[in-house]
Amino acid sequence: MSVIEDNIREIRENIAEAAMKSGRNPSEILLMAVTKTVDDDRILEAIEAGVDIMGENYIQEAKRKIEKMDVDVKWHMIGHLQSNKAKYAVRFFDMVHSIDRMGLAAELDKRSATAGRVLDILVEVNVSGEESKNGISMDEAPDLIRQISSLDNLSIRGLMTMPPWFDDPENARPYFVALRELRDKIIAENIKGVEMRELSMGMSGDYRVAVEEGATIVRIGTAIFGARVY
Ligand SMILES: *Cc1c(COP(=O)(O)O)cnc(C)c1O
Repeated sequence: MSVIEDNIREIRENIAEAAMKSGRNPSEILLMAVTKTVDDDRILEAIEAGVDIMGENYIQEAKRKIEKMDVDVKWHMIGHLQSNKAKYAVRFFDMVHSIDRMGLAAELDKRSATAGRVLDILVEVNVSGEESKNGISMDEAPDLIRQISSLDNLSIRGLMTMPPWFDDPENARPYFVALRELRDKIIAENIKGVEMRELSMGMSGDYRVAVEEGATIVRIGTAIFGARVY
């Protein structure tokens, strides 16, 4: 068994354990392999080993990889997206996790309409409020979601967040809890066309905690592929 296969198997086991601990069904949780800086052979290995989704941060890299690989797997955009790249996001991705402003949403809606499709999106929330982080604030998120819900060619599926980095993943727990509570609050609003099924949260260091707190998509790079070489 290759290292990548082995890593994926171990992560699946950890996800299952964390899910069971919190009374969840492990099949509710999708494993995304985050491919930034990873070479094509190793990406293909991960796809063959059976991850659920591939995650990319950069439009340029995604364009090259997705066109070249031509394999039947879902690709999600998880990196910061500039509005002028919206048409590529619509062309290459099944879902965009990083919607944090109305201007970007409007552009994606327009491009999706032109392409004759409805694009699934997540709203990225900056739970910690750190300056360096992308994402809409907790306070402003409900309003942004109400605005986006009026766009016909976007479908809001849930929320995404990236907590601050901690040595001890337990410290990330309150941020995951906050995102789940925000989701529940938005569900309670019953906004037409807004489905809040997905919580995209948890990375290599903290995915177990994220699953315990309700993650439905975990985004894993290092724990699958090893440390990134830039
Ligand atoms: C790089 C990245 C990840 C994966 O991080 P690892 O710690 O390597 O698992 C997850 N989400 C986003 C948004 C990323 O940019």
